[in-house]
Amino acid sequence: MNPIPDLHTHSTASDGTLAPSELIERAFAAGVGVLALTDHDTTDGLDEAASAAEVLGLVLIPGVEVSVTWSRRTVHVVGLRLDCANPRLREGLARLMEFRAWRAEEIGRRLGKHGVPDAYEGARELSNGRLIGRTHFARFLVKARLASDMGEVFRRFLTNGKPGHVPGQWATLEEALGWIRAAGGEAVIAHPARYGLTRTRMQALLGEFREVGGVGVEVVTGSHSRDDAFTFARHAREQRLRASAGSDYHGPENPWIELGRLPRLPEGCVPIWRDWSGMPVAPVEPQAACG
Ligand code: AMP
Ligand code: MN
Ligand code: MN
Ligand code: MN
Repeated sequence: MNPIPDLHTHSTASDGTLAPSELIERAFAAGVGVLALTDHDTTDGLDEAASAAEVLGLVLIPGVEVSVTWSRRTVHVVGLRLDCANPRLREGLARLMEFRAWRAEEIGRRLGKHGVPDAYEGARELSNGRLIGRTHFARFLVKARLASDMGEVFRRFLTNGKPGHVPGQWATLEEALGWIRAAGGEAVIAHPARYGLTRTRMQALLGEFREVGGVGVEVVTGSHSRDDAFTFARHAREQRLRASAGSDYHGPENPWIELGRLPRLPEGCVPIWRDWSGMPVAPVEPQAACG
């Protein structure tokens, strides 16, 4: 069994393509012993995932990936080990889901004006009646042959300054941390290398995050290179944050990201799971940059 837990994954409750129970089955088959389901702004998949995990004897960590606006950018905060019945968390996520519902219609309207008809309906159909995210629009546009891959859709249609981009206000860092902590969870900055922040801005983000009670940063994640892992191991150490690891798996359509296929944490990292009961001791990768 893989001694490194996979602490960041998605199901059809948000923009993943496997149902929560299918995700658990695939994780189990891949040798993952501990898995967190962290859907975007919803905990709706957790019940189904928990039942499937119990049958197989896999440890499911209840989680969520909260969308945050920080300094006019979107930053993702993963909450782990939460009580998803907590009312503050539920109210907070409900507000984000309301914004998502409106935003999806607005993306559809804007793409319509740009000559892409029926995008809202198309995205909705791909969302199984659950949350509609930009990923669903991207899948629809690829299917409709309006772009050749997901990356192209984001570049041409869905990012800042592009026709289907809808700016908006997610949670503040303080709100997201308030919800996660109220629910007894531990907050982690997701895939930090993706934000394109300078070293100084990253230090500002991580510093503020720690001040409002954040505990970890993803050092190892599907979108990080080995260099990124060492960079963020250093950030984590400097900011006295723990290190997390997660694939950010969205489904078998992206074959370059697989459940539990995670490199070791660089030496000197304190794994976020260090004091969790029943967790194996994580092996580390020696490297001077982190020590
Ligand atoms: P949303 O939270 O609805 O704005 O959508 C964000 C999601 O879009 C991320 O979690 C990714 O799954 C996906 N995404 C963002 N950028 C890209 C990209 N360049 N290529 C493929 N998927 C992307
Ligand atoms: Mn996603
Ligand atoms: Mn994310
Ligand atoms: Mn994610």
